[in-house]
Amino acid sequence: MAKRDYYEVLGVDRNADEATIKKAYRKLAMQYHPDKNPNNKEAEEKFKEASEAYEILSDKEKRQIYDQYGHAGIENQFGAGGFSWENFTHRSDLNDIFGDGFSSIFDSLFGGGFGSRSRHRSSNNKGEDLQIELSLTLKEIATGVEKKIKIGTKEPCDKCNGTGSADNNVETCPQCRGTGQVRQVRQSLFGQMQTVSECPSCHGEGKIIKNKCNKCYGEGRVGKLKEVSVKIPAGVEENQYIRLRGQGNIGPRGGARGDILVLIHEKQDDLFERQGNNILLEYPISISQAVLGDEILVPTLTGKVKMKIPAGTQSGRLFRLKGQGIQGLNTYSKGDEIIKVMVVTPTKLNKEETELFTQLREFDKRRELKPGKGFFAKVRDYFS
Ligand SMILES: [Zn+2]
Ligand SMILES: [Zn+2]
Repeated sequence: MAKRDYYEVLGVDRNADEATIKKAYRKLAMQYHPDKNPNNKEAEEKFKEASEAYEILSDKEKRQIYDQYGHAGIENQFGAGGFSWENFTHRSDLNDIFGDGFSSIFDSLFGGGFGSRSRHRSSNNKGEDLQIELSLTLKEIATGVEKKIKIGTKEPCDKCNGTGSADNNVETCPQCRGTGQVRQVRQSLFGQMQTVSECPSCHGEGKIIKNKCNKCYGEGRVGKLKEVSVKIPAGVEENQYIRLRGQGNIGPRGGARGDILVLIHEKQDDLFERQGNNILLEYPISISQAVLGDEILVPTLTGKVKMKIPAGTQSGRLFRLKGQGIQGLNTYSKGDEIIKVMVVTPTKLNKEETELFTQLREFDKRRELKPGKGFFAKVRDYFS
């Protein structure tokens, strides 16, 4: 497949300025963010493609070369396999866009190495991160909750105690003498070059197993269902995740554990609608309650509270119950419950009611009702 033009990838003009390019990248990054597209290979690729385009077009020099020679001109900027995340030098931009939490999920989804070209991987047998989805009710979100989740993980094999060896006979790798790395010295134009790479015999583990355990086939770990407990703080939102460090798969043969990512889903509530940390509720009242006023019992997230409807209340009027909303995340403040009262027009009247309304209509004829948009302005003011 032919490589797409970088300008086309970002959807910008060939003479777009720096700010426009950054804006375009920001938009794509938000769209294809791994948090929003869990396990979506295509989104992952798109994100990578946009990042590659941004890497080149946001750099004056590289952009000039690209403008002049196209993809061929900047080929040598990246490794043999083309652009990889190790080539991406704008991690701080992504942190600006997504906040600090971004880097960690990035590391987990893209296998690490991002923006850390000098980082030494001490061991390549770290266990995988796992992701699990958790649906929460609005009530649970409002106060925070602790949940127990069952999840399939890789745990140490009990037959071989996690060593992967049937007879506990684990030898030090002869090729790398247990270091897991091999060094190669090459002569190059610039003198002697030394490269360090993973030992091919032991795949970086430094150990070799003679007789593999027949339960785990030498992996030192087996699948198990385990229960983990996760504390959900109040105020979380759809698509946020909670990372349970070191609770994911254990690595092969005693490798470090990965993490568990708990992705939050918010269940629709039957009554309330969420708006940030506020909750909204529509509450029906009768014409007589609106005209004469009344005291009503309105539901809240935790029970019911009394609320006064003043005489002369218009349909659509908003009332605020302070602090009856959702406890905010990373803040001490609580949202409010906002109640919109709706006057319900009765549709089935008995004879007596019909007579009363007919009498009322005579009075109403003397009242002048003016059309206008004053009410909408009031609603706007309320939320601003
Ligand atoms: Zn085993
Ligand atoms: Zn080795």
